Amino acid sequence: AKNPLLERQEARESSARSYPRRIPLALKRAHGVYVEDVEGRVFIDCLAGAGTLALGHNHPVVIEALREVLADGLPLHTLDLTTPVKDRFVQDLFDILPADFTRDARVQFCGPTGADAVEAALKLVKTATGRGTMLAFHGAYHGMTQGALHLMGSLGPKRPLNGILQGVQFLPYPYDYRCPFGLGGEAGVQTGLRYIETVLNDPEGGIPHPAGLIFEAVQGEGGVVPAADAWVRGVRELTARADVPLIVDEIQTGFGRTGRMFAFEHAGITPDVVVLSKAIGGGLPLSVVVYRGELDQWKPGAHAGTFRGNQLAMAAGSATLRLIRAEGLHEQAQRNGERLAAGLRQLQRDYPQLGDVRGRGLMLGVEIVDPRGERNAHGHPAAAPALAGALQAECLRHGLIIELGGRHGSVVRFLPPLVISEAQIDHVLAIFATAAAKTFR
Ligand code: PMP
Repeated sequence: AKNPLLERQEARESSARSYPRRIPLALKRAHGVYVEDVEGRVFIDCLAGAGTLALGHNHPVVIEALREVLADGLPLHTLDLTTPVKDRFVQDLFDILPADFTRDARVQFCGPTGADAVEAALKLVKTATGRGTMLAFHGAYHGMTQGALHLMGSLGPKRPLNGILQGVQFLPYPYDYRCPFGLGGEAGVQTGLRYIETVLNDPEGGIPHPAGLIFEAVQGEGGVVPAADAWVRGVRELTARADVPLIVDEIQTGFGRTGRMFAFEHAGITPDVVVLSKAIGGGLPLSVVVYRGELDQWKPGAHAGTFRGNQLAMAAGSATLRLIRAEGLHEQAQRNGERLAAGLRQLQRDYPQLGDVRGRGLMLGVEIVDPRGERNAHGHPAAAPALAGALQAECLRHGLIIELGGRHGSVVRFLPPLVISEAQIDHVLAIFATAAAKTFR
């Protein structure tokens, strides 16, 4: 018999609902890396609010920060007026961004969701450059609002919106495992950069000189695809030379997730614009854009929005950023990510269905493949989305929440809270091994 909450959800909520289809749980309580559903079943949460909950659920420092705001009678929402909570939040944010960036940076508060910040970033570079087109990448995910959808590097979600697809040129992202040219490594990096260089410097190309180039240093929804550091450095150089603002979308990768505070730091570059959301609000809705001062060509009121002043989110965000920094949770993410990746690679020996294991820090993915299926240019087997779905369901049955991603929905993704312990990583691996044995037998 189905849970009545789930039945009512199915009857009343939009058909666009996504997670409940694969994770049909009604949750009632959560702490740390665990969530409990209304039937009292406990799960390890390796989805963690789609990467939002860096400190896990209901971390004491977040709860305390929220209590303080409520106890002090602070306004909960202040448009874009300042408050001591906001003042401290901006300082905490600037303290963890590279100093050569924040020396002359500005922050724009955008609203509750990541897509809000992507929209603002688009408008920012269009205003500053006076140009109108963008460069983005195959496999990219930047949000579901119409401007952000322009930048989506897969057609599926855009198909119902016939007519909004102009003005963005898509470039190949360095995805070695499924590189259509059978390249990869250094050859893939060089070819990809040559391609971008050609597009940036061809006055007769498909679009006019662009207002900006946007990318994720590790594609998340696109299937956990990390870009090589040399490629990221090359993109930085080429965009600088062509006078095209470089926007890095750190919505999913930011705040320690990939083992560094921000994923662009692996390559040692400084972007012109950084787009931030998810973990920045400590589990509460908040998004911002931080950008080089010279891009600040906006007239007063040029970008607005009512909910840009959520004091609870800023207080929870401050507490989160401070704890990540104080406890070196990015370094812990690096260590525990290696442990999780090593365990997954161990399992690859038993199950040829576990293809590429990749990612950075605690942002990991495994390609689920059909070993008997057709091979791609690289000799890698075909994606197996149905098998990935079955594996996800089996994990859930054994108490582990994971998500799927990738162009075919065949990449199993791990995004646990950064506070996950070694013992909890081992528990995740044990459940995954059990689920793999049942699914692939
Ligand atoms: N950019 C990236 C890299 C993301 O991962 C996401 C969300 N998964 C977004 C943008 C959109 O954020 P939101 O869903 O909060 O609008």
